[in-house]
Amino acid sequence: MLFAGCAKPIRHTDIAQAQSPTDEMVTGSVLQTASARLSQPMPQRVFNAGSLAGRTLEVAATADIILRPGEVILTFDDGPRPGKTVQILDALDRYGVKATFLMLGSAAKANPALAQLVAKRGHTVGSHTYDHVDLAGLSRQAALNEIARGEAAVADALGNEDFAPFFRFPYLSQTGYLRTSLLQGDMVVLDVDIDSKDYYKDSAAVVAARTLERLEARGSGIILFHDIHQRTVDMLPGFLAELEARGYSVVRLVPKAPGMFGRSVITAQAGAF
Ligand SMILES: [Zn+2]
Repeated sequence: MLFAGCAKPIRHTDIAQAQSPTDEMVTGSVLQTASARLSQPMPQRVFNAGSLAGRTLEVAATADIILRPGEVILTFDDGPRPGKTVQILDALDRYGVKATFLMLGSAAKANPALAQLVAKRGHTVGSHTYDHVDLAGLSRQAALNEIARGEAAVADALGNEDFAPFFRFPYLSQTGYLRTSLLQGDMVVLDVDIDSKDYYKDSAAVVAARTLERLEARGSGIILFHDIHQRTVDMLPGFLAELEARGYSVVRLVPKAPGMFGRSVITAQAGAF
């Protein structure tokens, strides 16, 4: 199940996932183009000459996630995974940047110490359902239950470490009903601006080149990675070095303290499990 990951063809139900026709299939020529661009000289556009670590953005709602040119948010889905996640953390530490990890409830439950380590090292931890289910294929209540079960399992695995009410739809497959329900329940839905497609059987260099190319085209955005693949572990140090060289900054995303109404109605249903 986990190996299927996000590799399933993406449903085009996500408005944030509007893609150019060339995204439909990664052909040899597209990859060559991406590789060629990476080997070209530095672009003239350098956003800032400082460190890679950018500002901290406190968000209470999805609409609060507004990036300036040159700013990126790093997100890692589907973990935590022994043998992979720690190496991701080490690479992030070397550049002093913080990411957001959208964990599966099943993976966090199986690896609670690893889940806690991610939070202890200053990263933001949210959820991604319990079992990586395509929620658009479930009934409304079953989908909400799956989300709540994932949230509860990740929060439980974290113990006393902080859990963020941040959520990402598996396969980016959502419905208007589910999205509205989450937003009304004080959940922050993390969309994807730049899909690294690190779940394809490409080399680390190809993944890095493709991601940088899309970032250059957009200028900023939320980047999707997975901390369950060796190629992601392999590409991350070089990718971060390139981000720094090009003057990007990595924004740390953290939840704003809950308001007087407290946590979400979705979580309140978790007692059913
Ligand atoms: Zn996923």
